[in-house]
Amino acid sequence: METLFKEAANEIKNKDYILITAGAGMGVDSGLPDFRGKEGFWRAYPFAKKLKVSFEQMANPYWFEKDPHLAWAFYGHRLNLYRETSPHEGFYKLLEIAESKKDYFVVTSNVDGQFQKAGFSENKIDEIHGSIHYLQCTIPCSNHIWSAKDTKIKIDFENFKALDPLPKCPYCQAVARPNILMFGDFNWIGDREESQHIRFSNFLSKIDYGNLAIIEFGAGKAVPTIRMTSEHLANRYKASLIRVNPRDYEVPKSHISIPMGAKEAIEKIYNYL
Ligand SMILES: [Zn+2]
Repeated sequence: METLFKEAANEIKNKDYILITAGAGMGVDSGLPDFRGKEGFWRAYPFAKKLKVSFEQMANPYWFEKDPHLAWAFYGHRLNLYRETSPHEGFYKLLEIAESKKDYFVVTSNVDGQFQKAGFSENKIDEIHGSIHYLQCTIPCSNHIWSAKDTKIKIDFENFKALDPLPKCPYCQAVARPNILMFGDFNWIGDREESQHIRFSNFLSKIDYGNLAIIEFGAGKAVPTIRMTSEHLANRYKASLIRVNPRDYEVPKSHISIPMGAKEAIEKIYNYL
């Protein structure tokens, strides 16, 4: 195992640029649930078990039409949870590593805003599934995306319903929703993410082949977008991929697999830098 940490550290040391990719497993050490499997989701949301609704079915824009108070109980609970959660120590060590490089970028499927909270630059993050800290109209009547910082959601946990008033679109007064890409979502406004993606492309355009290290944390196979992004860019930039994952740790040949949680792996690698 120690050889792996040393190898990963060398890889990072020898490259001028670092790309951090992250899925739900990144937040587990901060105490956030990763909704793994139906049972995992139902443990975090017992009401969903009562309704026999999976994460994929719950994280669906359908509920904002059918039962907006239930939809906002689910997303409001997550909004409150992410606001209350402090990023684990690994985030800060990772930021220190990233800032020691010529430049860095973060690509994440997490909507929790934890990288920003840990001090990563807002301009160096691509949140490919959007962010819970931003809102949009459910209809949507315009492409407007606004910050959720003034939005407070109170929840009646017994009935799992958000209390009135629900957040509203400032233009048409329809119920607002998080600017998150949900399952079966045709109404997500992708403009904010598009701007992030342009910044990410600009970052990539500066990189010479062989001068990029990619380190991936907690990106599972269920929604494999992050894993595919890491592997695709590793190929394209002749970069080594360091995959950190306690379960789905398989990695294409000649790359580095570290089968453990994010926080511990960062600490171990950090010690060799
Ligand atoms: Zn509207």
